[in-house]
Amino acid sequence: MYVILLGLPGAGKGTQAANLAETTGLSHITTGELFRDHIYRRGTELGRKAKPYYEAGKLVPDELTIGMLRERIAGPDCALGCLFDGFPRTLEQAEALDEALAERGAAVDRVVYIKVAEEELVRRLAGRWNCRQCGAVYHEASSPPQRPGVCDRCGGELYQREDDKPEVVRQRLEVNLRELGKLLDYYEGRVVEVDGQQDIDGVGREILAVISPS
Ligand code: ADP
Ligand code: AMP
Repeated sequence: MYVILLGLPGAGKGTQAANLAETTGLSHITTGELFRDHIYRRGTELGRKAKPYYEAGKLVPDELTIGMLRERIAGPDCALGCLFDGFPRTLEQAEALDEALAERGAAVDRVVYIKVAEEELVRRLAGRWNCRQCGAVYHEASSPPQRPGVCDRCGGELYQREDDKPEVVRQRLEVNLRELGKLLDYYEGRVVEVDGQQDIDGVGREILAVISPS
């Protein structure tokens, strides 16, 4: 099963995808985390090219993003399906995903739009902490780690993302808002909207109900 989680930055895509990956066994594919790996952990050529866009809160060009995604979903852990978090973000990416899945005799099975009001997104991004090592996501108020600054999952160091600074957040919301409208049109008739302003478990239950085979 191939599931897309749509939503603006801070909507809870990463949080939900990580939890759902555990309950469903589907692989969690996050292009944001793949870029952080290329830029900050591995320092690859792709990371060097993506960095200026990433740090300015702009979308990384489609050709780089689509190439990286294609390579990732060719992995054996994606053979039975995956949860896409942060991809697609443009029409071109949506078309490329359809094409890449069709080559494998597969298709997008579910599209879930996690809807959250903008002022709540800003609040969430300002209090978000990520694990430098495994990428796990926390919030200082709504889902704090057991020990401040330390990841519950792997013991790694928690940090606040550079692109979660208020001036970059504004740019990210603007860019993503524009593209989100086009994606909702592209998937019209196939998108199920979920109220992302419930607590984390409540949102998770709603998504699970949507993606569970009927
Ligand atoms: P996205 O991947 O869509 O950018 P994240 O999953 O990283 O969003 O969540 C953004 C921030 O909001 C994180 O700090 C996370 O802990 C917090 N968060 C996620 N879901 C909820 C929720 N339902 N209620 C309150 N805070 C949430
Ligand atoms: P995220 O972790 O999903 O908030 O993504 C962080 C940043 O990575 C974005 O602001 C973009 O610079 C880049 N990025 C992640 N996914 C994509 C994508 N699908 N297309 C283009 N850029 C992306």
